[in-house]
Amino acid sequence: MPLSTTSSWRRLAAATLLLGGLALAVPLTAAAQAWPARPITLVVPFAAGGPTDIVARALAAVMPKTLGQTVIVENKTGAGGTIAAASVARAQPDGYTFLIHHNGMATAPSLYRKLTYDPLNDFEYVSQVVDVPMTLLGRKDLPAKDLPELLTYLKANADKINLAHAGLGAVSHLCGMLFRKAVGVELTTVPYQGTGPAMIALLGGQVDLLCDQTTQTIPHIKSGAVKLYGVTTPSRLKSLPDAPTLSEQGLQGFEVVVWHGVYAPKGTPKDAIDKMGAAIRAALQDPGVAQRMADLGAVVADDAKLSPAGLQSWLTREVQRYGPVIKAAGQFAD
Ligand code: ASP
Repeated sequence: MPLSTTSSWRRLAAATLLLGGLALAVPLTAAAQAWPARPITLVVPFAAGGPTDIVARALAAVMPKTLGQTVIVENKTGAGGTIAAASVARAQPDGYTFLIHHNGMATAPSLYRKLTYDPLNDFEYVSQVVDVPMTLLGRKDLPAKDLPELLTYLKANADKINLAHAGLGAVSHLCGMLFRKAVGVELTTVPYQGTGPAMIALLGGQVDLLCDQTTQTIPHIKSGAVKLYGVTTPSRLKSLPDAPTLSEQGLQGFEVVVWHGVYAPKGTPKDAIDKMGAAIRAALQDPGVAQRMADLGAVVADDAKLSPAGLQSWLTREVQRYGPVIKAAGQFAD
């Protein structure tokens, strides 16, 4: 039976309304799917198990509470962190790729003649995270019980001693370079993809010395699996009260503190930057994360630093500061 004109018009009208409604809903759905609409990648420039990875995974475990999406930690190693930084600088600025990195973001321009990214112009700045002291460690059976004995031993055995680090640009390399300059002893160096693997080599006795962050070293120091020669802060640590500083043992003014920042490719939408910063701040206030960071000697950056401006101004200052420091200390012949 042919449809009457009226009823066919009614059906057409109903269909139009339905389609129109759907069309309207699509943008709303898209808007409702505001950032993040899918998992986020947080790139760590060093191997799993190292201090940077430890901090990244502590944050990634709780950030979904704020973001409503998982945070996937991706270890992208090599060249002291510069391979990861370069890859994030070139990544899609869609809000789904971030980098967590440390002082290496500021030292790379002085260490690498042909850096394929500019730390001060190729990124958006999200937030600082934590500041972490370093510890100078020896393998368990190194025949020197404290720093004075170590210095005597190094002077007599320099050609037999090797120091592990995580590549030109890593803070373990920076610390090793500054230590070598301070004690006036040429040391052979052994680069690893991160101080996670370097620590395994130290624990196995394959290397003699390693300067690494307390976020990884405190458990090994407390278990007696390594020798501790000193901490790299001006004053002693609450988390290691009996550990002398290198400065108080004669290396006056020796200081390396590792600060961390989170970055995104230039052009990443402000909405993603702001929400990622809020998720980082919430993660650092999570009781479990706060306790773990405190136990591992990490100090949460103060509020002014937990912001894009706080990270950007700090990084700018550090790039300028490290230039002369690195020139004076010279580089390892890697
Ligand atoms: N922080 C690096 C890591 O997590 C090591 C380094 O920079 O020395 O492996």
